[in-house]
Amino acid sequence: MDDVSTILDPLNEAQREAVGAPPGHMRVLAGAGSGKTRVLIHRIAWLIGVEGVSPQSILAVTFTNKAAGEMRARLEPMIRVPARAMWVGTFHGIAHRLLRLHYKEAKLPQAFQIIDSDDQYRLIRRTLKNLEMDEQRWPPRQMQGFINSCKDAAERPRDLADTGDYARTQMIRVYAAYEAAREAAGLVDFAELLLRAYETCRDDSDLLAHYRRRFSHLLVDEFQDTNALQYAWIRLLAGSNGRVFIVGDDDQSIYSWRGARVDNILRFEDDFKDTATVRLEQNYRSTGTILGAANGLIGHNLSRLGKELWTAGADGEPIDIYGAFNEYDEAQHVVNRIQGWIADGGKRSDIAILYRSNAQSRVLEERLIAAEISYRIYGGQKFFERAEIKDALAYMRLLQSRADDAAFERIVNTPTRGIGATTVDKIRSHARAGAMSLWQAAFDLAQNGLPARAGKMVMAFIETIDALDADIEGMALHEAADRVIEATGLKVHHGKGGDEKAEGRKENLDELVSAARAYTPDDDETMDEITQFLAYASLEAGENQAGEWDESVQLMTLHSAKGLEFPLVFMVGLEEGLFPHQRSIDDENGLEEERRLCYVGMTRAMDKLHISHAEVRRLHGSENLCAPSRFLREIPADYLREVRPQAGISQPVFRPGALARAEQSAAGLNLGQRVGHRKFGEGTVLAFEGDGARARIQVNFDRAGSKWLIAGYAKLDPI
Ligand code: ATP
Ligand code: MG
Repeated sequence: MDDVSTILDPLNEAQREAVGAPPGHMRVLAGAGSGKTRVLIHRIAWLIGVEGVSPQSILAVTFTNKAAGEMRARLEPMIRVPARAMWVGTFHGIAHRLLRLHYKEAKLPQAFQIIDSDDQYRLIRRTLKNLEMDEQRWPPRQMQGFINSCKDAAERPRDLADTGDYARTQMIRVYAAYEAAREAAGLVDFAELLLRAYETCRDDSDLLAHYRRRFSHLLVDEFQDTNALQYAWIRLLAGSNGRVFIVGDDDQSIYSWRGARVDNILRFEDDFKDTATVRLEQNYRSTGTILGAANGLIGHNLSRLGKELWTAGADGEPIDIYGAFNEYDEAQHVVNRIQGWIADGGKRSDIAILYRSNAQSRVLEERLIAAEISYRIYGGQKFFERAEIKDALAYMRLLQSRADDAAFERIVNTPTRGIGATTVDKIRSHARAGAMSLWQAAFDLAQNGLPARAGKMVMAFIETIDALDADIEGMALHEAADRVIEATGLKVHHGKGGDEKAEGRKENLDELVSAARAYTPDDDETMDEITQFLAYASLEAGENQAGEWDESVQLMTLHSAKGLEFPLVFMVGLEEGLFPHQRSIDDENGLEEERRLCYVGMTRAMDKLHISHAEVRRLHGSENLCAPSRFLREIPADYLREVRPQAGISQPVFRPGALARAEQSAAGLNLGQRVGHRKFGEGTVLAFEGDGARARIQVNFDRAGSKWLIAGYAKLDPI
């Protein structure tokens, strides 16, 4: 059969066993890069192409929305039927789809809106204020953590036992009040998406029966990172007839801090009877060196199922370890290596820079910009999370649903329209007293109950929104977005100041219109285009959004690199306290999780891996002396090659070509060299730019901080 060979030929023996297994529960347990995701995709193709399962009957859970898109793209040529009918997505994406379809059963308003964690935080603060609870004593972040972990454990406020402990009682009270406010405003936070979808299936027997009949096959990638609720949901949907196919790697479990339970992998065979287990041991991704190093590192973890990976590929180059002076030097090193790679004909999109914490990206970005290397940040500060974008989206949300209190609150006085804090407070109390939305309360008060001037302002706001609503009726999404931005004066508001930042904000607003234009809605009758776009902005933001993805170096945290692969990988900031993170150093479980994170990072690399650490790093405002990460010592030394700092303080290294120019300035100074300046005192050379008369040099002065100087005039003396 033609289909059979298309599906099985690109697989090894063990992979075929999993893909071609007779229908039943299957667990594939294997290390990084062994083809788990490939197996999952081929299994779907097998089910459809060979077993004759309808795409409609398949539910596949991926780790990112991007992975879902890739899965569809890779499937289509294999199965020759549209993969659209399949439900593929993240747990959150799938839960959202279900809630849109069944908003009635879920007891949600049809126009319910999703709020991200920033909106949730604001709503919690407002709740605390309403309860007259002190933020110092009840930090909103802590409340947020409490609420979300309750939801992840499927616990509603009423399920939480009152233990008589005062603090706990108060926290439950906040949770309950937050839920009431969220519910009244028709809002759904991320954790709510999952819990609500789970409860809706659990409590509505017709609905459950329908989906159990429909989804005869459920497949889950990255299973080691499912939490209790997600696991319960899969069990619920599978019922007694659904076949569940999971792939995972206990060594890559990195979300226990978000409630993921790696023991779900072990429990699986108890909960799903007659589970077959397949292990994959051949790695197809990385060189022998990278693999050996990663295996050596993860071998230091005690709690693991234990597996070794091998590769038939070449050993490749050693892993380069660079000890930088500081984070600038480290970033410069990365940039130099990237320039070398590009000069040798390599592509930028083949490169990833991975770091432990988002804050590390700034210095890297600075250097990349200076070197004119395009980059994009994957999952960092997302486009849709920028203030100006959230303002515009809040208008669109309020246009969709007047009950959306979070949106109302965000924009009622943005741009400033003379509706001050006192007025908003009055609106809030009126809403609370009458159990109505802020919108409704504002309308009420504007008629009667506010000083004349304030009442007029509020009425004007209400009229603006209503007029805009009528105005955008029937418009294409991007036209509507454009109209909203213009008519509300957001552009003028955010363009104030006229500086570069203001320009950037205006450009971002334009970019929102472009994003709306480029947006292709699914042909999904349950949601109109604006609703889909708003959901996309909160759920998928930052994953695929506009930008020259193909032409850019990718920057991301180690966490968001999971499942991906790149020919050239830089792991930066391998320092005690940063990675492993300070929080986990004293805790054996925490430390093992950090080590798994390091394993995930290393195994993203296909051909070449660079690791670096800095001796001094400024993080969160203070400068620290940093010891190299213990993980560097745990990697067997044979795989490593120490790269000497290019500064070679006494022995400058001359090499022809761009690299040497970047490392040594016309003034004969080296990167990292200590120099003295008449006015600024002593400092360290950080970077060079340009040559000849226009050459500039950056020095980090001990007292005066970092400065760019014209090399020819600076009169820097080596010391
Ligand atoms: P991770 O644990 O990082 O998610 P994984 O186990 O899911 O990794 P894949 O991403 O599926 O691994 O595969 C890793 C790489 O190896 C991919 O580039 C994939 O196309 C390739 N690959 C997998 N199996 C084979 C095979 N049998 N022959 C050739 N290449 C393969
Ligand atoms: Mg994978």
